[in-house]
Amino acid sequence: MTRTTAHRSMPASTPLTTTVASDPLLQLQNETAPPSGPGASRCLDHADELALGGIPVICPACKARRDWLLINQGRNVYVRCRCANEWLEPEITRADFNAMVNGQWTNYPTLDAAITDAGFDGSFGGMYLT
Ligand SMILES: [Zn+2]
Repeated sequence: MTRTTAHRSMPASTPLTTTVASDPLLQLQNETAPPSGPGASRCLDHADELALGGIPVICPACKARRDWLLINQGRNVYVRCRCANEWLEPEITRADFNAMVNGQWTNYPTLDAAITDAGFDGSFGGMYLT
């Protein structure tokens, strides 16, 4: 979308600093930016079955076969089930995770907040939601 900048001209006395909280556009941009930094965690819904080396992934706790949350932290990728069972999955690499990313992000203050919002905190154990 092309926008004109004519309406953005400000008097010379207007401070040029804008806090994220006071500018809804900057706030939205910040909230949807890709997470970065060494401590960043990224989550990805994976509604379909996962097959690793031809073997389908099955939750060892509840025997679910699909509807996963994939969590990337550093080089590690974890699989989380709706029942809140979670395990490190060494056969899914960061590159695999990156290949599944659709480019749309919602940022959360904590990983737990993201897990809860996505419905993987155990509240929906035994169900497929997607
Ligand atoms: Zn499970």
